[in-house]
Amino acid sequence: MAKDKPVVGFYDLTGCNGCLLSFVFNEDEILEMARHFQIKSFRLIKELKEEKQFDIVFMEGLVASNMDLEMLKAIRAKTKTLVALGACACTGCIPAYRNFIDASKYVAMVYEKTKEMKDTQPLPINKHVAVDYYIPGCPPDKKQILDFMKDLLLGKKPADYDRPVCFECRLNENRCLLDDGKMCLGPITRGGCDAVCTNGKLECWGCRGPMPDANLPLISKLLEQKGFPKEHIKQRLRTFAGMMMETPPEPKPIKIKPAKPAKKVKLVKKKLAKKKLAKKVAKTAKKTKKAKAKPAKKTLKKVLKKKALKKAKPKPAAKKTAKKAVKKIKKAKKKEKTAKKTAAKRVQPSKPANEPAPQKTFKAESEPQKKDKSFFNMIKGRFKR
Ligand code: SF4
Ligand code: SF4
Ligand code: SF4
Repeated sequence: MAKDKPVVGFYDLTGCNGCLLSFVFNEDEILEMARHFQIKSFRLIKELKEEKQFDIVFMEGLVASNMDLEMLKAIRAKTKTLVALGACACTGCIPAYRNFIDASKYVAMVYEKTKEMKDTQPLPINKHVAVDYYIPGCPPDKKQILDFMKDLLLGKKPADYDRPVCFECRLNENRCLLDDGKMCLGPITRGGCDAVCTNGKLECWGCRGPMPDANLPLISKLLEQKGFPKEHIKQRLRTFAGMMMETPPEPKPIKIKPAKPAKKVKLVKKKLAKKKLAKKVAKTAKKTKKAKAKPAKKTLKKVLKKKALKKAKPKPAAKKTAKKAVKKIKKAKKKEKTAKKTAAKRVQPSKPANEPAPQKTFKAESEPQKKDKSFFNMIKGRFKR
């Protein structure tokens, strides 16, 4: 029974895996699908297995390198039905934008270290191999992939989309965004998405690719008449229809200049020297930190000692006041002495001119003598006699 099931593989070239993920989002239906298909190769779900023959292969991405091209050719050789899955595989999409810009400006920045990589001109897969079916969209709607598989299983020709996005947009009674001054590419874009963007008032960027009969120069003129800048229109159209609108110029061979060894050596030396310097600086910083930490301890001790001494010693102000007090006492004593002397002088009677000089003179009455009055009176009495 299992041998009757079609063998299916999902592969990817240069892309973002968004299309493969879109299929995975059918998680509720995948198990049911597995009853009808043998999914042999799908790296997002299981390990890749080399199959001799595939009935159906869904190919995501475009050819942008020699590796892509080799893989595409090998798979095409063993596949009955090859399906281009998503805008990259169908029309080129964003990776094909590289056709319209000067790769030498960025390639050295991005790919300098991967010299083994060999780029080729980014092209959709039908530029290299025959393609049986296309599922457009960036990414395609998950139900669209499922419906496609069901059609194949039933032996029906999968439905093609021959109406523009505008048709679905009008059916959904949306207001035209062109009238609101938005650059919508609905008129030239293949429908089938139910105008999901314009339903949400976002302009259609044309991710499902242009209709087979799309008049690209005419839409450019019409948009210009609406007031959109020429360059802006060109850039917008290039995103998904660039490869159909204009033949891309022959890509220039990209040469990645290897860096000069001498310079490299110099750079390495410089880096080493910088590292050494940094180490030295770090060491000295550590030492100084330690050195600073020690004296701090010492100073702490000193400060504590000083404080203790200050406490023990009398305050200088107190000293001064003590000295002043001593001086005052001395002065008072002096004053007292001088006062005594002057008092004694006053007590002594003035000498009359005739009066004979006394033989013995008495000192003025001093305080201690005053105290000893009995002794004084005794002497006085003797003289009187
Ligand atoms: S078509 Fe869009 S989603 Fe799919 S691989 Fe390309 S960029 Fe990604
Ligand atoms: S909004 Fe866009 S898709 Fe809708 S009718 Fe206007 S041009 Fe068409
Ligand atoms: S409306 Fe346009 S951009 Fe949006 S999904 Fe549909 S085709 Fe793509």
